[in-house]
Order: sequence, then C-alpha cells, then structure tokens
Amino acid sequence: MKHLVFIGAPGSGKGTQAGKLVSEKNLKHISTGDLLRGEISKASDLGKKVKSVLDSGELVSDDLVIELIHANTDLDKFQYIFDGYPRNLAQAQTLDKQVLKDRPSLAVYFEIDLNKLVKRLTNRRTCKGCGAIYNLISQAPAKPGVCDKCGGTNLVHRDDDKEEVIKKRMDVFSQNTQPVLDYYKSTNRLMTVNAENSIEQLYQLISFRL
Ligand code: AMP
Repeated sequence: MKHLVFIGAPGSGKGTQAGKLVSEKNLKHISTGDLLRGEISKASDLGKKVKSVLDSGELVSDDLVIELIHANTDLDKFQYIFDGYPRNLAQAQTLDKQVLKDRPSLAVYFEIDLNKLVKRLTNRRTCKGCGAIYNLISQAPAKPGVCDKCGGTNLVHRDDDKEEVIKKRMDVFSQNTQPVLDYYKSTNRLMTVNAENSIEQLYQLISFRL
C-alpha cells in the first residue's frame, strides 16, 4: 500500500477518516497539528514557542514541522497517513525528497465548500484522552461529555476552532493549497473526494481506491 497524504481544509474530515483507516487497515496516522498540540500540552520549549502561532491560525515554520515528522516516523517499518502535512508546496517537495525518498504516495484531497466548515468546526469536540473527534450536532457522543471510545470526560473545543481563528485558518488554507494540489496532479498522485459525503460514504470512497 502507498503512503497517504491527506489534504483538506480544517474540518473537512481528514482526522476522522484517518482514525477509521488506522483501525481497519494497517496504517499509522501522523497529524502535525496533533503533534504540535501535544507539545503545547506538555509545555515543552517547542510547545511554548509555537502556542501563539497556533492560536493565531498561521502556520509554524517548515523547518520545525519537518523536524517533528522525522522524529515521529519510521518509514522502514510503517505505512503512514500524513494528515495536515504538507501544507504548502515547499513541504510537499520536502516530504518527497527527504522523508519518503522513492517510496510511493497518493494524495487524497477532501474537497468541500469552505463556507460549510465554520459550523462543523464550532461544533467540533476532541477527546483529550484518545483524540476521538465528535460533532455536537451530527455525531455527538452517546452520553454527553463522555468519549464513546475511551470513556474519558475531557471533550474539548480546540482554541483554534473558535470562530475568530477559523477565518484565518481558512485564508491560510486557500492561499497555500492550490500549488500542492497541482504538484500531486502533475505527478499523477492526486485523488479528489467529495468531503460533503457522510463519514461512512467517504470512507468507502477512499478505501475502495487504495
Ligand atoms: P491542524 O490540526 O492540522 O488543523 O493544525 C493546527 C495548526 O497547527 C495549524 O493552524 C498550524 O498553526 C499548525 N500546523 C499543523 N500542521 C502544520 C504544517 N504542516 N505546517 C505548518 N503549520 C502546521
């Protein structure tokens, strides 16, 4: 199987699909956003450095992100889903040249009308314990405030999922993504899926084509 590169606006469903693929296929999920939030939670030097960047909705530096990728992957052992990386053309080229080297990869673009995402993000809650993702309207946990998967009771609304930061994140996404899509398209490695499908339909679409 190829390494997968998930490209999509915040809230387009990348993390949810990655979670499903990991539990049903032999893949590992690496989300640069999760790694960065993990550093912030630990209050590590790196976490302290990047907190204000994440809070503003801007991107952290390419060098810092590639360091995190190198430190958290073992390409000789595992097949990965890269979620939230690459975010710009330079990162896409670095992923090919310095991380994957000659290993095959396929980019999956989660296409969706950005206007529909604000509602998804303002209602998104993430389990602090296991990372499971919920939507208070369309996919609420069975028992309010309790994670279905791990039973944890810390379902949080990410700071950067607040309305004022979401707009900035969408702008950053719109400005940087087209060159990344063109790059994968020009090398015949781009698959586009309609991310307005239900979670299950989207999963079928993606897994069918792997
Ligand atoms: P995400 O969870 O993927 O939405 O990422 C949350 C935030 O982490 C982004 O708004 C950026 O500030 C930062 N981030 C995540 N991935 C990257 C990346 N590949 N390059 C730069 N910044 C990133």
